[in-house]
Amino acid sequence: MRRPSRGQIDRELPLLPLRGMLVFPHMTVHLEVGREKSLCAVNEAMIRDRLILLASQRESSVEHPEPQDINDVGCLAEVRQLVKLPGGTYRVLVSGVARARIHQYTRLEPFLRVRAEELVETEELTPEVEALMRAVSRQFDRFARISRKLSAEAAGSVSDISSPGRFADTVAAQLHQVLKLEDKQALLEAEDVRDRLMLLNELLNREIEIVELERKISLRVRKQMEKTQREYYLREQLKAIHHELGDKDDRTSEVDEYREKLKKADLPDVVREKAEKEIDRLEKMPPMAAEAVVVRTYLDWIFALPWNVETTDRLDIGVAEQVLEEDHYGLRKPKERILEYLAIRKLARDMRGPILCLVGPPGTGKTSLAKSVARALDRNFVRISLGGVRDEAEIRGHRRTYVGALPGRIIHGMKVAGSKNPVFLMDEIDKLTSDFRGDPAAALLEVLDPEQNVAFTDHYLELPFDLSKVLFITTANTTYTIPRALLDRMEVIHLTGYTEEEKLHIARGHLWPKVLKEHGLQDGDIDISDNAVRRIIQRYTREAGVRNLERELSTVARKVAREIVEGRKTPVRISAQNLQHYLGVPRFRCGTAEERDQVGVATGVAVTDAGGDVMPIEVTVMPGKGNLILTGKLGEVMRESAQAALSYIRSRTKALGLDPKFHEKCDIHVHIPEIATPKEGPSAGISIAASMVSALTGHAIRHDVAMTGEITLRGRVLPVGGVKEKVLGAHRAGIATVILPRENEKDLEEIPSSVKRKLDITLVEHMDEVLDIALVGGLQAVVGDLAGRSAENGSDGDGLDDGGQADRDTPGQILPPDLPGVRELPVTRPGTPA
Ligand code: ADP
Repeated sequence: MRRPSRGQIDRELPLLPLRGMLVFPHMTVHLEVGREKSLCAVNEAMIRDRLILLASQRESSVEHPEPQDINDVGCLAEVRQLVKLPGGTYRVLVSGVARARIHQYTRLEPFLRVRAEELVETEELTPEVEALMRAVSRQFDRFARISRKLSAEAAGSVSDISSPGRFADTVAAQLHQVLKLEDKQALLEAEDVRDRLMLLNELLNREIEIVELERKISLRVRKQMEKTQREYYLREQLKAIHHELGDKDDRTSEVDEYREKLKKADLPDVVREKAEKEIDRLEKMPPMAAEAVVVRTYLDWIFALPWNVETTDRLDIGVAEQVLEEDHYGLRKPKERILEYLAIRKLARDMRGPILCLVGPPGTGKTSLAKSVARALDRNFVRISLGGVRDEAEIRGHRRTYVGALPGRIIHGMKVAGSKNPVFLMDEIDKLTSDFRGDPAAALLEVLDPEQNVAFTDHYLELPFDLSKVLFITTANTTYTIPRALLDRMEVIHLTGYTEEEKLHIARGHLWPKVLKEHGLQDGDIDISDNAVRRIIQRYTREAGVRNLERELSTVARKVAREIVEGRKTPVRISAQNLQHYLGVPRFRCGTAEERDQVGVATGVAVTDAGGDVMPIEVTVMPGKGNLILTGKLGEVMRESAQAALSYIRSRTKALGLDPKFHEKCDIHVHIPEIATPKEGPSAGISIAASMVSALTGHAIRHDVAMTGEITLRGRVLPVGGVKEKVLGAHRAGIATVILPRENEKDLEEIPSSVKRKLDITLVEHMDEVLDIALVGGLQAVVGDLAGRSAENGSDGDGLDDGGQADRDTPGQILPPDLPGVRELPVTRPGTPA
């Protein structure tokens, strides 16, 4: 074959435009030639010296390229072989010879013909070029190793090329598949070997970086895939094991069950969304994960709550009245208040009235009244106790992040209620306490506030629950310990306690039938007389309510039931006489008023948890330095009223025949027994004063007189609270006369007339009146005594003054000089008979 002559500068050549590729010198490739002009160009080359110019098109999509569409630098190549293919196309094997730059297009038809200059390069091997060659060689080596696009031999094929130009072009040719066309064109145009090597180095670097990144990514993906595959595989194995063991596939069936429940449940949108999320979460968890238990419990709570369940109210006041009457004897006022309350709810259905708060001693029917309200309205009933709740979380629940967290009592209650509009009783709201764990009262405020409870959020659920339809009723024994803000939101209804007659009626009409039923007894089995019931009330119980009465009746019923089972003939008759056989020795004497008149002991009355009760107030006087000793767990206000009582007496020394300086010569000790219970309030004022006067003058106080009232420094008697409880308590204790402040007259209306008939209730305005009634023999006894003695001492003995001003007394004239305010020391000891 004739070697084509080379090295000719500026020669004419046929041009073959290449699409999407180019050829480097020293590179041999097959080209598929199909375009008409290209075929002509190849033919022309074959006819002549087989040399042809290969230059790439700027845009490969151009079908008939014009000169401006073709790059200026191309490759002079020799056609080595030509195969004519069916369909008129050629397969041409070409071999790159040298770079060439097109100067001019000499012909455009029937093929492109150009005048071009062969670019001859210097082959000088400077140290810089050598260094570049080594760098490229190293990079190429590395690239060949990590890239799958090059074979290992490719690296070897360039290692022994010593000519830098040829080396660069061979490397470029090897990267033919890897590099982008622009980059390849840039390499072809880099006439200077140094530039070409540098560019090559740069391109190799970039490619290596890309390949490494690709490898990293694919490694990560593979790892992830392996992990999922492994888990999948293990799970499948586990499933297979379960299957072999005959277990159902718990997880899927559980999740499916939840999904099914969710479909059926009537839930607000937010709740549904949350539940869906939790079910999805559960599905993804390994079944034994601790977290799965938490999610399951949570879902169970969501499905157990009555989000949209509501019962229909029966707002018929007639029926409500009937129900309340059926369930309870007496309680006229509370029943009226409740009916009014229900009437308002009927008229303004959406008006959210205040919360009812039933206040009274235990066993007065608070809980059962609330139950009756539920029965009257035909609503569900639920009761929670707030006694001893000191942690906000007990109301609002713990956050789910805590181990074993659960919702608070309110949400618990709603679950039990099973509807979103139950009657919700919160017992013992007065027994809430607060400490460092937060203030439960604050949480309750939110529950009870109609503005906020539409969306009450429990910490555990983290979902708003609508409490606005709930009818809240609270109970308390006293209002004193209810947090102010809570009390303001409630409408207080007082249940004060029952008289003996009322208790008898309740026992007959309600407790006894209930007790019989509970013990499986018939009406004819057992017959209890009124006197027996009375005796139980008087001698076996001492309470404002009827709780213990109910308990004692149960005891009787239980014992009789046993006797009947053992063969005793019915009916068994219970009378006051044989009661002891069933209940043992009576626990209380009839009333606990003092049994004798004593010096230095007055009977006060106080409101206690058990309703009203008598409270003996003891005073003793002993030689000393004028100290006032107060014992018996007295509160601040009570201590002050003892001070006030003493000051009052000091201002009245003359009238009472006392040594004006008695307070300097003796100590006065006021003691109110039953140390365990704290006592507070000003209402013991007059009893303390009476006791002091008795102790100082040595005149006894009537044991059957009880008194209550606040005392001022001038001896006025001011009104007090809890009159009904106190009067009933005094009555229970067997008191004959009760002294009350005149201003409390209005409260007498509440006292049952049966009690009023039996008690002598005296209204007073001034301490003198109190002393007149309470002291044995009346004030006259003291004054008379005084008159006798003043005659002895030559005093005028002007009796009592009215205003109690100290300056009107003439000090130091009345008493025998040797005695410190007490005439006969022995009688100042309480308990000494007068
Ligand atoms: P509280 O909640 O005030 O402590 P309860 O409601 O538990 O008292 O009452 C104790 C018992 O006494 C209940 O069995 C109740 O039915 C009964 N009871 C209380 N007051 C009356 C009443 N006025 N009529 C009928 N039963 C009553």
